[in-house]
Amino acid sequence: KNLQIAIDGPAGAGKSTIAKAIARQLGFFYVDTGAMYRAIAYKALRLNIPLEQEEEIAVMARQTEIALEHSAARRVFCDGLDVTEAIRSPEVSRSVSIIAAYPEVRERLVELQRQEAGQGGVVMDGRDIGTYVLPDADLKVFLTASSEERARRRWLELQQAGKELSLAEVHRDMDARDHHDQQRAVFPLVPASDAILLDTTSLRIEEIVDRILSLFNN
Ligand code: C5P
Repeated sequence: KNLQIAIDGPAGAGKSTIAKAIARQLGFFYVDTGAMYRAIAYKALRLNIPLEQEEEIAVMARQTEIALEHSAARRVFCDGLDVTEAIRSPEVSRSVSIIAAYPEVRERLVELQRQEAGQGGVVMDGRDIGTYVLPDADLKVFLTASSEERARRRWLELQQAGKELSLAEVHRDMDARDHHDQQRAVFPLVPASDAILLDTTSLRIEEIVDRILSLFNN
């Protein structure tokens, strides 16, 4: 099998920044599984499918083509449409954990994720990568940080993207999403029993990346 690194954790723990840096250094693919769930949530909103219509959303998910670009721009396509920016909206962030709790949506996306992992060495980030998507990953890392710090990071990102939300609002949305991700019945957000836990609250990106690379190389 190809080499695999699984990175899980709650929102704002630094998963994607760190996963991308590691993938770049190792020459591996980076697979952002959250982007896939976001694409489905975005499509549901765009088609005005009520989020509680589980069956309708499951059918829609099965009929949706999602493609993640592996080049530097890392564009995300949904049915051929570029949704890279659209899937980062606060509205999508508020909706995504609802559709991510639907078993049939997960089934469909996990299939895509495992296909991606068949392409070569991979760094994959998400919530259930170490526990479910890639149970035999060569290294599993679970990133955490205090909820205040994670909210601050998300808020900064949104500011940079020109989105004017208050820190309190971002914090509230993020806590609600994490709660939902932890409580759901199927593959909730929990560390795999063989994952290495890393608290990133007071670590710089480079320190975390170095630590993970040395864990991987040993
Ligand atoms: O990683 P990101 O914050 O973009 O993920 C958005 C949402 O997608 C998560 O809050 C979660 O509800 C869902 N998700 C998931 N399983 C994954 C990745 C993301 O349920 N592997």
